[in-house]
Amino acid sequence: MAKSNKNCSFCGRPESQVGFFIMGLDGVHICNECAIQASEIVKENTTRMSNLPNLKNMKLPKPIEIKQYLDEFVIGQDEAKKFLSVAVYNHYKRLMQEDTKDDVEIEKSNIIMVGYTGTGKTLLARTIAKKLHVPFAIVDATVLTEAGYVGEDIESILTRLLQVADYDVKAAERGIIFIDEIDKIARKSDNPSITRDVSGEGVQQGLLKLLEGAIVNVPPQGGRKHPDQKMIAVNTQNILFVCGGAFDGIEKKIASRLNTRVVGYTADKENESVDKHNLLQYIAPQDLKSFGLIPEIIGRLPILTYLEPLDRVALRRILTEPKNSIIKQYTKLFKMDEIDLTFDEEVLEYIVDKATEFKLGARGLRSITETIMMDEMFEMPSKKLNNLTISLLYAQSKIEKANINRLKTA
Ligand code: ADP
Repeated sequence: MAKSNKNCSFCGRPESQVGFFIMGLDGVHICNECAIQASEIVKENTTRMSNLPNLKNMKLPKPIEIKQYLDEFVIGQDEAKKFLSVAVYNHYKRLMQEDTKDDVEIEKSNIIMVGYTGTGKTLLARTIAKKLHVPFAIVDATVLTEAGYVGEDIESILTRLLQVADYDVKAAERGIIFIDEIDKIARKSDNPSITRDVSGEGVQQGLLKLLEGAIVNVPPQGGRKHPDQKMIAVNTQNILFVCGGAFDGIEKKIASRLNTRVVGYTADKENESVDKHNLLQYIAPQDLKSFGLIPEIIGRLPILTYLEPLDRVALRRILTEPKNSIIKQYTKLFKMDEIDLTFDEEVLEYIVDKATEFKLGARGLRSITETIMMDEMFEMPSKKLNNLTISLLYAQSKIEKANINRLKTA
């Protein structure tokens, strides 16, 4: 077949530089290379569209199923798990019934979790998102500031979600955003007029818009908006917001509220049984207000729950019980080199002791185990051994040699 002297209508190259042309109407040509590329683009977009679960046909896990799934990865925190499971179930039920014609509108059930750092707030939110196969992004509220100040615009929260959804706007619009350290944007003083509260009330006002549901122009690369940037419009109506924070010192507000009640006419037996060691369990919306969250934000976070502090027993369970527990991860790593790894029971107790002693909580379990295992991880793959048992003496020697301060800041 004689080569034509035309050029590919897509890449502009002549037929002599490519394999062959496919002719279209009106003298249009496509070369074999552009045809392959076009086919790839079609394939990619079709899979992306079919990956998006059709909400109408989606088999929504029931709250009990969601909780059972959470139980596999997160130890304890039954109350938070129950609240989360119900809230998430209702949220997606609401999305599925979007087009029903009656007047009953189910409101969005954004969630706020209060609990000490390292007790599993992020882990809970992340695990739920995995179960539901929806995009999930974590953002830190501390970097957010009012427009015009150093820091990130509120809209950058949505940039993260767009990025994890691979810029698939439809998928992002039904994702979950976890806003960590929400307590850091609390109003610093009761009188907002004293100084400009750049990262406090202004940010809360900005956040309100996202929580309520609005169409927001999002800078695709995040950071600060600038006039020449192309924006992506994202509707936050169906995005579920889960907020978490330690709310340091909120126990005092809870205690004083509980005390006021005792003094008042409702003083009764119920107040005598207040568990003073775990006041977070009595948290109520008014405590968040006393802490400095504006009432409008509290109103948009209708599900309020708390996490228990982790005691020794919980830490010991975290070490081995979750599906991807630290010990299971190390065992797997060694198995890949055909080495059977075991830990003496006293070692596990020792790791928990150290995490408690250094006040590192669950996060410390990893850094302590890492310190104990580092030398063996370095040497064992080159040794011709099939077994390794970590003894208490060995573990103690590694921790004693380690720089404790490094562990403490882990
Ligand atoms: P938070 O968000 O409350 O500060 P994270 O969820 O980030 O805490 O927890 C830090 C790490 O500690 C997690 O990645 C996990 O390994 C471990 N962890 C904390 N709490 C639990 C828990 N209840 N069950 C299992 N692991 C936990």
